[in-house]
Amino acid sequence: MMRFLVIIFGLIAVVECSSQNDSFINERWKMVELQLKNRGINNELVLDAFRLVPRHDFVLPNYQKVAYTDNPLPINEGQTISQPYVVAYMTQELELQQHDRVLEIGTGSGYQAAILAQLCDSVFTIELYEALSKSATEVFGKLEYNNIYCKVGDGYLGWLQKAPFDAIIVTCSPSHVPEPLKEQLAEGGRMIIPVGEGYVQQLVLLQKKKGKIREKKILPVRFVPMIDENRIKY
Ligand code: SAH
Repeated sequence: MMRFLVIIFGLIAVVECSSQNDSFINERWKMVELQLKNRGINNELVLDAFRLVPRHDFVLPNYQKVAYTDNPLPINEGQTISQPYVVAYMTQELELQQHDRVLEIGTGSGYQAAILAQLCDSVFTIELYEALSKSATEVFGKLEYNNIYCKVGDGYLGWLQKAPFDAIIVTCSPSHVPEPLKEQLAEGGRMIIPVGEGYVQQLVLLQKKKGKIREKKILPVRFVPMIDENRIKY
């Protein structure tokens, strides 16, 4: 009788657990259809990455239920996880190839880095707040990502030891493009960065061709301002 009860409870637990996962899978697919495909994201590899990466693992427990809505949800240290459409738009603009090495500034929750990690060989990501870097690293470990490298530091300086990068993505907004990031971009590489004063910002796409940088403004956006810790101005 006891064995029978244990088996029944075990079965209930499995059904409960997989139905929970399934409901998140459904939410993710709905998010891809309604918030990404309907709004012009059409790179199938990018869409597949959004179907796979469990966004609910990157938000605070209280926000898991709304993890698949198009909102920038709060994370710790007064920062936010970017909304899925913005993450998808920026990712698509990078036109990543499988063998690419990517630098991200502003790890935050780690969600953007996880999306990038589905699409290319290695992702290097820098975060100013140690606590955020630590919790993102834990999530990457739990989800078994082994191609994301985290560093606590000032994104204005980039990551010279790991440069050059085929793509650079900045997910906080500086008032101008930091010079070290331009230097650390590989020949032929693309950088996407929200540049502005306060919350008035433009997403800017930069491309390095024959050693020269060309800039194009592509979209008005609203990111958390990049923290200029040492008041460094380039
Ligand atoms: N990519 C993140 C978005 C986080 S919001 C995600 O997917 O969740 C932007 C992040 O940039 C914040 O975590 C903030 O702490 C970080 N940040 C701000 N200024 C920075 C700087 N100078 N260097 C590195 N990170 C910075």
